[in-house]
Amino acid sequence: MNNEFIITAAAEYVDVAPENRIGADIALSPEFAGIRIFDRPIFGFASAMDPMFEDLRRPEAVGDCFMPPNEWLDGAKSVISFFLPFTEEIKRSNALDFSEPSALWLHGRIEGHAFLNNLTLFIAEKLRDTGFEAVVPSLDKRFKMFRNYNGLEFTSRWSERHVAYVCGLGTFGLSKGLITEKGIAGRFGSVITTAALEPTGRKYTGIYEYCTMCGSCVHNCPVGAICLETGKDHKKCSDFLDITVEKYRPRYGCGKCQVKVPCQNGIPKK
Ligand code: SF4
Ligand code: SF4
Repeated sequence: MNNEFIITAAAEYVDVAPENRIGADIALSPEFAGIRIFDRPIFGFASAMDPMFEDLRRPEAVGDCFMPPNEWLDGAKSVISFFLPFTEEIKRSNALDFSEPSALWLHGRIEGHAFLNNLTLFIAEKLRDTGFEAVVPSLDKRFKMFRNYNGLEFTSRWSERHVAYVCGLGTFGLSKGLITEKGIAGRFGSVITTAALEPTGRKYTGIYEYCTMCGSCVHNCPVGAICLETGKDHKKCSDFLDITVEKYRPRYGCGKCQVKVPCQNGIPKK
């Protein structure tokens, strides 16, 4: 088992899996049927013993509810993190109007998340097939999200974006998304395994290194949840998402801070 095997298997899966396309039976409009949700993923790998996982327990990171890899899986050796970028079609649709999520973005957020879960399970299965153990923290029964935990408004036992940062996938933006080589508009997933994989390493030292503080995401946010001086107001963002649930149930979403911004498709130039 090596990194390349996982990257190749995942790329093939993303290209052919029918769930990576909007099904005619659930499409919010007939012309959406068959539209692809995600492009091929990019990957980051870290040693499960990387001291930065322990650092995530600091209150200014995820908090002490964060469970490092070896608490999820005895004998954990590696963490595999991936970023699935939304296709241009999904991103373009959400940049046409900055007050409501586009229908395609709603599909990307909900059906896209279901597909992401399938991809993590597919990777875990590939690892098990070759004799290794694997755990998907976000789908594990121990996974838990917290509100107002020890002074933190929102936190959880495993944070995909923080884990992606440790695995070398990118750095945070002002909007609190993670800016990767394939941009900020997409979704993250991860798997912990007993397979010893080659760590990617981090090309950065600061948590906001890739963000230019250009303010485009501030301008795009329909509820003023992002501010150049004070950062992101997670409560304002979450309250807006709650409104979209009421309107578009069972779907929801926004993502205006991820489209029509210099970090949409890559690391912005300083
Ligand atoms: S839009 Fe500009 S300020 Fe906002 S996260 Fe991207 S680079 Fe940073
Ligand atoms: S997801 Fe929407 S509401 Fe939340 S910060 Fe981004 S633009 Fe604002």
